[in-house]
Amino acid sequence: MKTLLITGGAGFIGSNFVRHIYRKYPDYKILVLDALTYAGSITNLPENSFDSDRFEFWYGNVLNADVVDSLVSRSDVVLHFAAESHVTRSIFDNRLFFETDVLGTQVVANSVLRHRDRVELFVHISTSEVYGTATGSIMDEDHPLNPMSPYAAAKCGADRLVYSYWMTYRIPTVIVRPFNNFGPFQHLEKVVPRFVTSCLLGEPLNVHGDGSARRDFLFVQDHCDALDKLIHAERSKIIGEVFNLGTGRDVSVREIAEAVKATMHNSASPIHFTGDRPGQVFRHTCDASKAIEALDWKPSVSFEDGLRETISWYVANEDWWTPQRWMRHIPIINAAGKRE
Ligand code: NAD
Repeated sequence: MKTLLITGGAGFIGSNFVRHIYRKYPDYKILVLDALTYAGSITNLPENSFDSDRFEFWYGNVLNADVVDSLVSRSDVVLHFAAESHVTRSIFDNRLFFETDVLGTQVVANSVLRHRDRVELFVHISTSEVYGTATGSIMDEDHPLNPMSPYAAAKCGADRLVYSYWMTYRIPTVIVRPFNNFGPFQHLEKVVPRFVTSCLLGEPLNVHGDGSARRDFLFVQDHCDALDKLIHAERSKIIGEVFNLGTGRDVSVREIAEAVKATMHNSASPIHFTGDRPGQVFRHTCDASKAIEALDWKPSVSFEDGLRETISWYVANEDWWTPQRWMRHIPIINAAGKRE
């Protein structure tokens, strides 16, 4: 029996991963540590898990070294998802981003160091945002790190912190850099669910700038499958490594808005162009060949199929997203520093 500690397991990707592991590996014990910020909810966790003796939910902060230490000391594998994760919010107020994303990662890494005899793998979930705008056509793991928003800078600090712990202390780290994720249980502040729910509510789809910014969108189940393969991979192939996770195909924000409208047969919600977000990354396209080879993994869900599945989920789960509805209207500070 393995014990997995999953920080941030009540958030979007973390909870998809928790559900995946909970269903697929009935002999694994799962410890979730989550501060239940606006982005996390226990309703995202698997049904009936609270009655199970192979699941423990810990309501706590990754900055709390005592709690983290007690959980890491019981874990074979630590997957660190917890973070402040929204670029636009980090433009308004970035203090929490540096505290949670950098110092929180330091707490988890220190704890792994203390319990290196117990922990066989420490997976740090970084992000493609650490790269900034692509300098060439696709981005591999050697692309320069040029974070362009406070969120990206905080995640980059965490990413390099974990790398330094590998170089200095040789704790068993793996850094993954997923590109944009989408799918069920994603907070409405993020672009795909925001567009989907705008259509459902008959409101305009607000697009930053002219909508030409391009991103590589990975369906969240493909991300979970990659992490599943990663934690079961031969250790010598993965420890100390960095892996991009993405599809190799990019779509523009404008194309996403159009695809959402077309898939939902929506003609009532206009596409509305707002000021560009400062620190905007213009193109992100993943070269995932390293992960594809080392993990024997590849994304299996196309953007179109993932979008259909995501739309169906939001249509069927209005009760889940209605309380977040007002958060779709977070104002944007434009490049001139003015509130849109
Ligand atoms: P999310 O915002 O949906 O979830 C974050 C979770 O972390 C929430 O449950 C929240 O309550 C928890 N959390 C926040 N601060 C905490 C703290 N101090 N202590 C304990 N828990 C805390 O984020 P997500 O989209 O699921 O992203 C998960 C990870 O993946 C993050 O590290 C993010 O940077 C990274 N990532 C996300 C994407 C994406 O497209 N969503 C892409 C690449 C990388």
